[in-house]
Amino acid sequence: MRSLPKRIERLGELAYNLWWTWRPDAQSLFQRIDPVLWESLEHNPVRFLRQAARKDLNAVAKDKRFLDLYDRVLDDLDRYVSPTGEEATWLQRNHPDFKGQIGYFSFEFGIHECLPLYAGGLGVLAGDHLKEASDLGLPLVGVGFMYLLGYFRQRVTEDGWQEADYDKLDFADLPVTAVNGPNGEPIVVALDLPNRSMRFRIWLAQVGRVPLYLLDADLPENRPQDRALTQRLYNPDPDTRIPQEVLLGIGGVRALRAMDVHPTVWHMNEGHPAFLTLERAREMIDQEGISFDDARQRVRASTVFTTHTPVPAGNDTFAQWQIDRQLWGFWDELGLSRDQFMDLAEQDGLYGMTVLALRMASKANGVSKLHGEVASDMWAWMFPKNPRPIDYITNGIHVPTWVSRRMKRLYDQYLGTGWMDRVMDHDLWKAVYDIPDSELWTVRKHYKRMLVSFMRDRARRKWVTHTQHPVQTIASGALVEPGALMIGFARRFPTYKRATMILRDIPRLVRLITDPARPVQILYAGKSHPNDEPGKRLIQDLYRVIKNADTAGRMVFIEDYDMNVARYLVHGVDVWMNTPRRPHEASGTSGMKAALNGALNFSILDGWWPEAWNGKNGWRIGTEQAYATNEEQDIADSRSLFDTLENEIIPLYYDIDEDLVPHRWLQWVKESIYTCAPEFSTMRMVSQYFEQMYRPVGEAARRAVA
Ligand SMILES: *Cc1c(COP(=O)(O)O)cnc(C)c1O
Repeated sequence: MRSLPKRIERLGELAYNLWWTWRPDAQSLFQRIDPVLWESLEHNPVRFLRQAARKDLNAVAKDKRFLDLYDRVLDDLDRYVSPTGEEATWLQRNHPDFKGQIGYFSFEFGIHECLPLYAGGLGVLAGDHLKEASDLGLPLVGVGFMYLLGYFRQRVTEDGWQEADYDKLDFADLPVTAVNGPNGEPIVVALDLPNRSMRFRIWLAQVGRVPLYLLDADLPENRPQDRALTQRLYNPDPDTRIPQEVLLGIGGVRALRAMDVHPTVWHMNEGHPAFLTLERAREMIDQEGISFDDARQRVRASTVFTTHTPVPAGNDTFAQWQIDRQLWGFWDELGLSRDQFMDLAEQDGLYGMTVLALRMASKANGVSKLHGEVASDMWAWMFPKNPRPIDYITNGIHVPTWVSRRMKRLYDQYLGTGWMDRVMDHDLWKAVYDIPDSELWTVRKHYKRMLVSFMRDRARRKWVTHTQHPVQTIASGALVEPGALMIGFARRFPTYKRATMILRDIPRLVRLITDPARPVQILYAGKSHPNDEPGKRLIQDLYRVIKNADTAGRMVFIEDYDMNVARYLVHGVDVWMNTPRRPHEASGTSGMKAALNGALNFSILDGWWPEAWNGKNGWRIGTEQAYATNEEQDIADSRSLFDTLENEIIPLYYDIDEDLVPHRWLQWVKESIYTCAPEFSTMRMVSQYFEQMYRPVGEAARRAVA
């Protein structure tokens, strides 16, 4: 970091605590120095401070208003990091006796757009989990990967074909620091397995009070194929994927040991890190000479597992010969034969990571009530004596991250300034009914305009750099009208999400969206996995309709969906649409973000939505009835979608009174906020993880050792 003017030199420190990602006042410190530069660098404070002009830094260092804010923010940071008596954390107040530490392992973490170590919902959820653990004061450490190429940037060609660009990240440009040993040199951890020997280093992303350790195998002493292990997310090639999972699970445990970190509870976010259980068994066998069965009992007692999807692609299975190739001989260290080792994860003759995780954890959960049932049915064959082996903890969102600044100000005013510390208190949220409609509508309109100008700015920038065909300028949102109804649909594009459901009746679609009195606009965004050809074809099918003049610029595809685009969308749209094929959507969280900001959900009764929907806080698409074939299901669901849109949603939105405020619409918005905000928050979610899993498991683990 370059030297900063003395009076504001702690900006450098602020940049490296990702606490700023959920503190708008901290972000505005950077923004105020040079708003244009701040926007152009993906809100990355490390690059920003390096590139900001000396004169701009000097100017704010003498600006009284800036300095007042600076002092206040840094004071808040200090008090956040070391809370004093009267500001005790949720944990200190509610569970003062808890002794223990939670190790949370995940393939991806979505903390902020400037740290592209996530692909989608799983990562953003993991990021929100860490932020909330920090806010609640849980002693949790995260373990993940420092991907050299991050996740890809999406470009859509004129023909609607998704292209993936990978930028090599320069870690010195990111808000992460190398973890050094006592000698001041980076810690290098050895991963020596019977048939693999490699080294890796560790980066630290500080998330408030919670450290996130990121493993990096790109060291010159490693073989090229080992260096590539932390190059990119979700490599489908088993010869990369298995060693990646070995590195996260086994290497992750060794990384913590190298830093003298010893969790008492181990949380596997999805099955990818499940090898951590074998490494911990190996440690016990090696250090204490106990049997594998005894070690396994102890590992189970201290391990919890969250499964995130019923879709096969999300539940890794590998051929046993591929496991042989990567882990040959590891069973000897566990005192097992090869067959016994394979049996631990046996699933139809394959090696299943979800099976391993379920066998090696004492508690397992799905991520919504419905998903808990679906997952229990899916894995019931493993548990002949237990009809409900998988419990559920419904997902939530980190409210400080996802609430817009002006909605926050409204909540400050009507719920009281301490509302963020009491997010899960349902009674508190009754006060949303006290917000005057005109004020709420003013904020809603502001974010609709912000979203429109965001799309236009992007379209303009591409236009002047000649990187797109004119029709793509329209397809990227140049003609969107801020006043008209806006429906958002943003997510990954696997086929089960049925992103093109609305194309089943194009004449009706065109008639609805181009109605001159009551137009409708539909904004799409989302990436398809680069190897998912059917997903990329869905984007193409949509794009062709979007480009067509019949849709009048009222359908849009926003490229390169990330947390920044997500924020603009969930802050701005009026309706959040979701069309998964039930029951494939385990939870979904983007609709929760939209609800918090005053959008109404319009969704299949899948994932979280059956728990939230009450008939007056949003709409369902279809019913819970299951049809015999996918085709029949799709026909019924799409008919329901069009009927509800035409007969209920559009009329309600355009039912505007003389004061130009849609009062009846806002009644639904308030009902939606009141019912969704407290329940679908990570404050509710993480405190539930603590009470249902971390605390009992931590205590059981302590008893087992004693
Ligand atoms: C919230 C979020 C997701 C998850 O949304 P789903 O509803 O689970 O599809 C994915 N990507 C980004 C960038 C997000 O912010």
